[in-house]
Parts: sequence; structure tokens; C-alpha cells
Amino acid sequence: MTEVYIGLGSNLENPATKIQQARLFIAKQAEMTETRFSSLYSSPPMGPKDQPDYVNAVMSIQTGLTAIELLTALQQIENNFGRDRDTIRWGARTLDLDILLYGEQQIDLPYLKVPHIGLPERAFVLYPLQEIVNGNLWVPGMGYIDDLVVQCPLAGLEKLS
Ligand code: ATP
Ligand code: CA
Ligand code: CA
Repeated sequence: MTEVYIGLGSNLENPATKIQQARLFIAKQAEMTETRFSSLYSSPPMGPKDQPDYVNAVMSIQTGLTAIELLTALQQIENNFGRDRDTIRWGARTLDLDILLYGEQQIDLPYLKVPHIGLPERAFVLYPLQEIVNGNLWVPGMGYIDDLVVQCPLAGLEKLS
């Protein structure tokens, strides 16, 4: 079993509810067991600004799936939640599930980079991640979580609950 951190984001159709529904959906998968779930946060959109603010959270799970199997499973869940992939980069979406960390593995495939490549500059990922990790987690190839957080401005991130 591997401990995996997943970033959840939504900015369409009741985003806070969507995030909670996605959490429950993930937790009920036979091969994914929830271990921690962060507070919900709101953040201004990255990329195009003419879209609603996002609701973000981070959860950890224990899984027996390989990273590639997990990516496929998460993409299927995004589809179940009405994800439209035929849109502009970083445009509005019903549900985005990113693999942030897969144990201590570093993965560099064209379609899967772990730790998630945007981690060091994304407050909406780093702050909720720091909330649920045990101690000063080492992020492979990037540094310690506490250092990454200190170096990352909040950029409008707000805790919702
Ligand atoms: P970003 O990846 O910058 O957060 P995004 O989430 O909007 O942008 P998507 O359209 O959801 O991007 O995904 C684009 C591709 O990113 C996916 O098809 C997937 O193959 C790839 N990808 C690479 N690394 C990861 C990862 N760690 N988690 C999820 N998808 C990843
Ligand atoms: Ca993303
Ligand atoms: Ca994504």
C-alpha cells in the first residue's frame, strides 16, 4: 500500500458540494482508503481570470493501485462528475483531481509527473497539503513542505471551513 496525496479543485456547479461529493466517491472505492482530508479553501483562478473562484482541498489515501492505474481511476471519476476536457488550459471545470505525491516516488512520464509539477508555486495546493501531513514532509526533488509554504505567497487563498 502506498500513501498518496490528491489535490481536489472545482469552480463550477456548487464547487464546495462537488469537492465533498468527490471525497465520498473516492473514499468508497474499494482500492482507495481515505486517511486525511484538509479544510476547504477558496482561491482566485489560475490562468484565465474570467471564471469563478475555485474551491480546493487535499486528501490522502492508502492505495494498492500503481500511479498509472490511479491516474486512470481519477480521470474516470472526473468524467463521472461531468468534466469537459474540450476546453482551454486552466479554464473552468467541474472537478480536477491531481496526484500530488505518490509515496516518495518521482515519476517523469509524458502524461504523469509526480510530485505534481505545479506544487512549489501553488498556494492552493501547498497550504492544504501542509495541514494534513505529519511533520515537515520531504517532497522528493522539491524540498521540505514547510520551506515550500514559506516561499509561496497566499495569492488570495482563504480557508473556508
Ligand atoms: P495542471 O496539471 O497544471 O494542474 P490541469 O489540472 O488543468 O493543469 P488537466 O487538463 O487536468 O490539467 O490534465 C492534463 C494532463 O496532465 C492529464 O491528461 C495528465 O495526463 C497529466 N498529468 C501529469 N502529471 C499529472 C499528475 N501528477 N496528476 C494528474 N494529471 C497529471
Ligand atoms: Ca490541476
Ligand atoms: Ca488535472
